[in-house]
Amino acid sequence: MSETRHTKVLIIGSGPAGYTAAVYAARAMIEPILVQGLEPGGQLTTTTEVENYPSFIDIQGPELMMKMEEHARAMGTEIIGDIITSIDFDQRPFVAQSDSGTVYTADSIILATGARAKWLGLESEEAFKGFGVSACATCDGFFYRGKEIVVIGGGNTAVEEALFLTNFASKVTLIHRRDELRSEKILQDRLFKNPKIEPLWFHEVEEVLGDENPKGVTGVRVKHTKTGETQVIDCAGVFVAIGHAPANELVKDVLDTHMGGYVVTQPDSTATSIPGVFAAGDLTDHKYRQAVTSAGMGCMAALEAERFLAEQE
Ligand code: FAD
Ligand code: NAP
Repeated sequence: MSETRHTKVLIIGSGPAGYTAAVYAARAMIEPILVQGLEPGGQLTTTTEVENYPSFIDIQGPELMMKMEEHARAMGTEIIGDIITSIDFDQRPFVAQSDSGTVYTADSIILATGARAKWLGLESEEAFKGFGVSACATCDGFFYRGKEIVVIGGGNTAVEEALFLTNFASKVTLIHRRDELRSEKILQDRLFKNPKIEPLWFHEVEEVLGDENPKGVTGVRVKHTKTGETQVIDCAGVFVAIGHAPANELVKDVLDTHMGGYVVTQPDSTATSIPGVFAAGDLTDHKYRQAVTSAGMGCMAALEAERFLAEQE
């Protein structure tokens, strides 16, 4: 028999938005349950230094998220290692099914499922995932000691990953489809000063090349975006860092989304089109997508859930 757990507020997601919502909801004495999902701690657990979360000049991403978890727990949040697989928004209380078989019923829900790495969508990329193709430098960088690798993308993630990978790789080629990066200037400065990194402007990856026995990447075929000319870059690893898409699977058929799947919330609010359902963090934010803005939205969501519950009483 599956267990049923009831809560006044179910928080789905354990990134900065979820944990901050948990701190506020717990302090409001609404006894939140937070379900962590497949990636406890969220995206920041896949990075190293975080230098822009106020009060920490420099902290490792995983450590910051451990502190947030500790904080949420200390305030009285029940934190559960589980994954929500579906939610029935037609029933009151809402009914959420989970991977463990536990059914969570909730008077209100805070969606904080964040975002996930985007992929190029190439067949060859799919074929070599885990065999030289990765979207997480901190997870996989270690395997490329003394080897040449490529990083694809031109945002903060790509530049940070390229810099981090110079700790291991003999050479990092940063492949970008334009000749201008969109990452912060401080990161660009570090990139351009690093002798191990070579940018390759106006290029896109057409195919990941590799061997089957033993299975592994040997290079990428790239195409010039203006001339169409192709060339092969030899490398043992390919790090795809072309951005993130909102993790909206639970709600995309029920809630309004825009700008590529981000959940729409009311102006200056985390309220969605369903009363009692709030959304915070990267799931809703196509613009800022930062830890601190996600945390801020988590705070808003908890305060709004608290008000909603009070009105119901
Ligand atoms: P996320 O951190 O994306 O967390 C989402 C959570 O939802 C996860 O815990 C996941 O397990 C959970 N979840 C998803 N689906 C389910 C489900 N079905 N059931 C239960 N749980 C679920 N920002 C900065 O401000 N500074 C930085 O230095 C910085 N560095 C970054 C480096 C990298 C490599 C990346 C990828 C991002 C970085 N960011 C940085 C951006 C920052 O990580 C995000 O803006 C922030 O993590 C978003 O927080 P969030 O709470 O919305 O979601
Ligand atoms: P991003 O800012 O959206 O950048 C994605 C990059 O990938 C862009 O340069 C884009 O090119 C390129 N790109 C997108 N699709 C592509 C494709 N199909 N083929 C080739 N290139 C493609 O994503 P991000 O770097 O992952 O950052 C996401 C958010 O997290 C941002 O808000 C960022 O500020 C935040 N973040 C912050 C930090 C930090 O504060 N230190 C670190 C990491 C991430 P174009 O430029 O041509 O569009």
